[in-house]
Amino acid sequence: MHEVTALKELLREPRHIFITTHHKPDADALGSSLGLAGYLKKKGHHVTVVTPSDYPDFLAWMPGNDEVVVFEPGRNDRQVQEIVGTADVIFCLDFSSLGRINELGQYVRNAPGKKVLVDHHEKPEQFADIAFSFPTAAATAELVFELIRDLGDQSLIDPSIGECLYAGIMTDTGSFRHPSTSRNVHLIIAELLDAGINLSAVHRRIYDSHSEERLRFLGFVLKDKLTVLREYNTAYIAITADELRQYHSKTGDTEGLVNFALSIEGIVFAAILIDRVQAVKISFRSVGDFSVSEFSRRHFNGGGHHNAAGGISHEPLDATVKKFLDLLPEYQAQLVTAPLAIP
Ligand code: 5GP
Ligand code: MN
Repeated sequence: MHEVTALKELLREPRHIFITTHHKPDADALGSSLGLAGYLKKKGHHVTVVTPSDYPDFLAWMPGNDEVVVFEPGRNDRQVQEIVGTADVIFCLDFSSLGRINELGQYVRNAPGKKVLVDHHEKPEQFADIAFSFPTAAATAELVFELIRDLGDQSLIDPSIGECLYAGIMTDTGSFRHPSTSRNVHLIIAELLDAGINLSAVHRRIYDSHSEERLRFLGFVLKDKLTVLREYNTAYIAITADELRQYHSKTGDTEGLVNFALSIEGIVFAAILIDRVQAVKISFRSVGDFSVSEFSRRHFNGGGHHNAAGGISHEPLDATVKKFLDLLPEYQAQLVTAPLAIP
C-alpha cells in the first residue's frame, strides 16, 4: 500500500509521463502500456508510450496504438532521448531488467524522472524508485487494473482501456488455462465486462487475424520442423533465417508456435529456436515442475516465468541447437519424473 500512496503523490499534478515495455512487445506488454496510458491521459497527464522495437500487426487495433513511438536506433534516437530525458515519471511495464529494452535501457537508467516498475517476471533488477513487482500475477495488465483500482479510479476504466487490459490477461494466461489463472483474474475479467469490453472481439483480433501466408508457414513448421524427443518428454522446433525469408515471416508470425510443441500428449518441455541473424532467439515452455526460467537463466542468458521463458544465443543456430540437445541428459531425471497425468 505504501507504493500506491507514493505513486498517488507522484501523480497528484499533471506530469510528463513516459511508458515503455519489453523488446518485441506482446499483447500483455502493449496492452498494459496502452491501458495505463489511456487511464493517465484521462487524469490529465501528458503521456508517451515508446516501445524498444516494433511489434506484431495483430496488436495494432489497440486504442492508443497510433501514438506509440517505436524506437529505431539510428532513426529517432534524439526524439526518444528527449522524451525519456524530460519525463517526470517513467513507467517500466512487463519487464524486470533494463537489458530487456535494448539501447533504451541506458536512456532510462540515466534519466532523472522517477522510475516506476509494474511487472510480473522473476528476479527483478533493482532500478525503480517505486516497484510493483509480483511474480505470481498472471499478467502485467492484471497489475495495471489493480493499480488503477487502488488509486481509486476504477470508474475511469472504459471499454478502450478495458480491452487493452483484457488482451494482456487473456494472452498471458493462455486464454485462461495456465495455473496463474486465479480467482482474482476471473474477478477482474468480470469487472472489465461490467466496464463494457467486447471480449470475443478481442479474441478474434488477436487469434483469428492471421495472413494466409502465416498459416502456410505454420503448416510447414509442424510438418517439417518439429522434433519430438520422447526419452526427454521434450519437443523442439528450429527455424533458419532462410526459412523465415522463404515464408516472408513478419514480426509476430512465430508467436505461439512453441505452444504446438507443448500441446503433444506427454511433452513437458518445449523450445523454439529461431535464427534472427543478429542472434538466435529462443522461447521455452513447460508444464508442471520443470522451471524453464531457471533453465534459460543458467544456459541461455534469459529468464521469464516458471513455465514460460525466453533466452538468447550468439552462436549459430546449429551450435545453439546442439548446446540445447547436449543439456537434456543432465535434466532427464527431472523431465521424466515431472507429473504427466492430468488430474
Ligand atoms: P516469449 O517466449 O513469449 O518471447 O517469452 C516468454 C516469457 O519470457 C515472457 O514473459 C518474456 O518476457 C520472457 N522472456 C523472453 N525472452 C527473454 C529474454 O531474453 N530474457 C528474459 N529475461 N526474459 C525473456
Ligand atoms: Mn506479461
